[in-house]
Amino acid sequence: MTDATAAAAELADRVRAGDLRLHELEEHADADTAATARRLLVAEETGADVDVLGEYAFDAADAEPNIENMVGAVQVPLGVAGPVSIDGGALSGARYLPMATTEGALVASINRGCSVLNDAGGATARVTKSGMTRAPVFRVDDVAEAEALVEWVRDNEPALREAAEETTSHGELLDVTPYVVGNNVFLRFRYDTKDAMGMNMATIATGEACDVIEESTDASLVALSGNLCSDKKPAAINAVEGRGRSVAADVEIPRGVVEDRLHTTPEAIAEINTRKNLVGSAKAGSLGFNAHVANAVAAMFLATGQDEAQVVEGANAITTAETTPDGDLYVSVSLASLEVGTVGGGTKLPTQAAGLAVLGVRGGGEPAGTNADALAESIAVGALAGELSLLAALGSRHLSSAHADLGR
Ligand code: NAP
Repeated sequence: MTDATAAAAELADRVRAGDLRLHELEEHADADTAATARRLLVAEETGADVDVLGEYAFDAADAEPNIENMVGAVQVPLGVAGPVSIDGGALSGARYLPMATTEGALVASINRGCSVLNDAGGATARVTKSGMTRAPVFRVDDVAEAEALVEWVRDNEPALREAAEETTSHGELLDVTPYVVGNNVFLRFRYDTKDAMGMNMATIATGEACDVIEESTDASLVALSGNLCSDKKPAAINAVEGRGRSVAADVEIPRGVVEDRLHTTPEAIAEINTRKNLVGSAKAGSLGFNAHVANAVAAMFLATGQDEAQVVEGANAITTAETTPDGDLYVSVSLASLEVGTVGGGTKLPTQAAGLAVLGVRGGGEPAGTNADALAESIAVGALAGELSLLAALGSRHLSSAHADLGR
């Protein structure tokens, strides 16, 4: 038995004896030993063989800000699509798109879309709006007091900005938008968080601003997040107002390329998009009017260390397709609320940092914010490639046979 295994076994004994709790192990051993001890306990209590969870490629201590009660790591296969040519506001040139997924055929489909985008001269992408939000809810006596609070906020935005920005060297408060519902006042704070996704940054900064509001008015803070933010829930406010990055990508594809490479026509793709992505989604009451944007967003989020629960907002996208006057195909995808960062959160874990490095967007950008913009643009292009490929597969009636050919 190695020293580390013996130390883990001893820790596990202490948990069994009630001397230590499962979350206290890092106080008595290094993080890797603590994880080994937890695997021993979990295996014993569940009967599951969990040795494979211990096969991870990072120092467990480096993951301490990202996980509690660590037992190991789950591995997700990583593939690349591309390289795809991107003309972006923050990134230009050919990029491989890193995608972590267990869904067979996904990378192949997006890769096919990338190849067609290249044949069309590449995709264009731009971030059109940026701002991470946090919306606390305040209790007031009545609507008269609500209106007074709204007025106070409008008159005192500089004081709120000063308090908020004291907590961060990068974040900037852009604006505060009030919403009144009876004796509830929601204040939607919006920040430029540069290369950070910004949820922690915005929450801490908003907390300071709320202190100023409570000191200066009769309003009482009920919750620092009042759900009008709106984080990790499907919400129309994000679709309309945006959250994180609003980013769009588009392409014009010559008719010959559509016919030769996708075995369908611009008219067929445009009709499928209208009847499926627009009418079908409207009838379903969907917030996303697209074919499968969540696939590209989720795979690239996992590959680059993003907060995976924010795929909820990231998939809030509208796909359009139309024939041009020249008979070619125009396709676009607009993601209203893509919350991404290249610093903070899970971005510094080694495999996720490698994913960012493949895109050339690891760490802070120069100027700050440009790396997260570039990441958003590359995800939008991945989503565009995915939309194009799936619409074309439907147009050529090739969808089920493509999955069957790949055995999935
Ligand atoms: P963070 O890891 O809390 O903070 C990143 C920090 O990096 C910033 O605060 C900033 O410090 C610093 N930084 C260095 N270079 C920067 C650059 N070029 N641009 C921007 N910042 C730079 O990350 P976060 O993005 O604010 O929050 C992400 C985390 O929040 C994720 O782990 C996510 O899971 C979690 N999360 C939190 C909540 C919540 O309600 N708190 C909700 C959802 C998710 P300065 O601020 O000092 O400038």
